[in-house]
Amino acid sequence: MHSSGASPHYDIAIVGGGISGVYTGYRLLSADLSASPQLKAWAGSTGKLKVGLFEGSERIGGRILSAQPPGMPHVTCELGGMRYMSSQPLIRGLVENELKITSRKQVVIDDKNLAYLRGHHLSIAQLCDPNALPYNLLDEEKAWIGPKNTAASLMSWSIAKLLPQVNSLTGTALHQYLQTAEIDGTPLYQHGFWNLLARGMSFEAYSLARAAVGYDCLGVNGNAVDLILEFFDFTPDVEYFLMDGGYETVPWGLQNRYTDAGGELKTGTWLSRFEAATLDDGTTGACLHFRDGTSVTARAVVLAMPKRSLQLLQTDGPVLGPQAPAHVGELINAVQGFPFDKLFIVYPEPWWEKLGLSAGRSLTDLPIRQCYYWAVEGKQQGADPKNTNSTLMAYSDMTGAEFWGGLREMPLGPNDARTGGLRAGRHRTAAVGEARKLFARQAVPFQAARAATTHSDSRLRHNWDSHKAPHAMVVEMHRQLKLMHNVQDIPDPIDAAYMDWTDDPFGGGVHLWNSGHKSWEVLDRMTQPVADFPCYVCGEAYSTNQTWAEGALQTAECILQKRFRLAAPGWVKP
Ligand SMILES: Cc1cc2nc3c(=O)[nH]c(=O)nc-3n(C[C@H](O)[C@H](O)[C@H](O)COP(=O)(O)OP(=O)(O)OC[C@H]3O[C@@H](n4cnc5c(N)ncnc54)[C@H](O)[C@@H]3O)c2cc1C
Repeated sequence: MHSSGASPHYDIAIVGGGISGVYTGYRLLSADLSASPQLKAWAGSTGKLKVGLFEGSERIGGRILSAQPPGMPHVTCELGGMRYMSSQPLIRGLVENELKITSRKQVVIDDKNLAYLRGHHLSIAQLCDPNALPYNLLDEEKAWIGPKNTAASLMSWSIAKLLPQVNSLTGTALHQYLQTAEIDGTPLYQHGFWNLLARGMSFEAYSLARAAVGYDCLGVNGNAVDLILEFFDFTPDVEYFLMDGGYETVPWGLQNRYTDAGGELKTGTWLSRFEAATLDDGTTGACLHFRDGTSVTARAVVLAMPKRSLQLLQTDGPVLGPQAPAHVGELINAVQGFPFDKLFIVYPEPWWEKLGLSAGRSLTDLPIRQCYYWAVEGKQQGADPKNTNSTLMAYSDMTGAEFWGGLREMPLGPNDARTGGLRAGRHRTAAVGEARKLFARQAVPFQAARAATTHSDSRLRHNWDSHKAPHAMVVEMHRQLKLMHNVQDIPDPIDAAYMDWTDDPFGGGVHLWNSGHKSWEVLDRMTQPVADFPCYVCGEAYSTNQTWAEGALQTAECILQKRFRLAAPGWVKP
């Protein structure tokens, strides 16, 4: 135990500047403390808490990472989280009511778009036509697919055969039912989702549904309760929203408000370990040690980070050290991170529009998996209409992400037949200027680009430049796009950016609960893993809204409301 005997540097030290960390900091400094005797006492006569936020990387935002391609000054791409849903009260309220960030609806489904499956060129509409689908389905599966039942909902159909009540229950009633349901005398939460699916559908139907859902991770053998909720706990008329200036404007907005309210922020500061400390008033707080050799003390520490980041900390202190209660390790291992990546590829013109494709996503079982027709520069408000630079987003998880990961450090050989005229180039570590030349087979029509004029623009451009896609990856992506769209004669790409969220310290783009755990109870315990030590954990990984920023805010609110006794924020959208 560290003994400082001095007053601590901070009342609360937050580690992790993703959305959950910066949100917690802003809430602590903007909330009325009168409801929290503990925080009120800590704030003392100034009435203001001393809060420090420590982020290891040089940027605030974590898995929310927006970027602007060169030559497309009115377009923002999303290499991490991209949208919120109308049914998500915390993030929606924060964006619309508190930060007042402008957003617009996102088109996801367009029946004209493509489904390229098993080498067959279909339309999205044909995912409702059992005779068009190149899968060896059972008669009952074929009979079920139809105008109202797309191939993607085969998984729900299979689950409803085992648990018919899921079709009629919603909200809290659905949650309670699944939390107490049993199959063959074994609680549902102990079953693997895929194991249950296999009872009600053929492997062919499973393969089709997984391809049509677009995300491989939504068919894994994770906790059946949580994955069933993914398919049934939604409002049918849900809408998706994209932030006009990029999703990263949300953590940036929180960062500004946090520092304006007196919060201290240190980027480039990695926590390496923390231990208990006896403070001046005899209470137990925490002493945090950073990789740069500095240390600070705090009355409480909030670890706003995912599983892998926790595992990267040294095994020391009352939470992670050898003397920590055994249940902490079990809590940490209750979730699994899943590989996720995104690649934005820029073309000099929107060649896909000639095929009648302009918005939403196409699907394929190629490693591309989901292809979003993201934006045409000249069609954005305020843009030069003659600027035809356009970008597509390729979005994959699990096996798709593994495939692209293999091309990260791969130089392209001079005789590689796939180049089709593209110059061989270097991989990601190439200097930015050189990397840009790799794609400059034709003169890049960047004349219309205005210089980065605002602080926000330059951050977005910096994000793009620091995530250049390796050349070998772009060549392969271009090849798969031609295959999927059944076209040969399209222009060469001129630029691309890529992010693989498997990298440390993230260990995956999103998390899912493993079977065998009651997520709704672990969530609560994880917010304070050791009962008598003031260390709190928040973030998407241990939430019941995993895969979403909503989950990150949900667990932050658990700490703020349940552990610190603050009132709920007024901006929540019901
Ligand atoms: C490809 C992709 C698509 C997604 N799509 C969506 C979407 O459309 N909508 C949506 O709502 N959500 C989406 N998500 C999920 C969303 O991005 C996350 O839920 C959310 O950003 C997680 O925030 P967090 O605060 O929990 O953690 P993180 O964002 O992971 O933040 C953790 C922070 O802690 C820092 N850190 C880690 N270790 C240390 C240390 N030792 N010392 C100091 N700092 C440390 C990290 O650098 C990081 O900044 C997506 C995620 C991905 C990857």
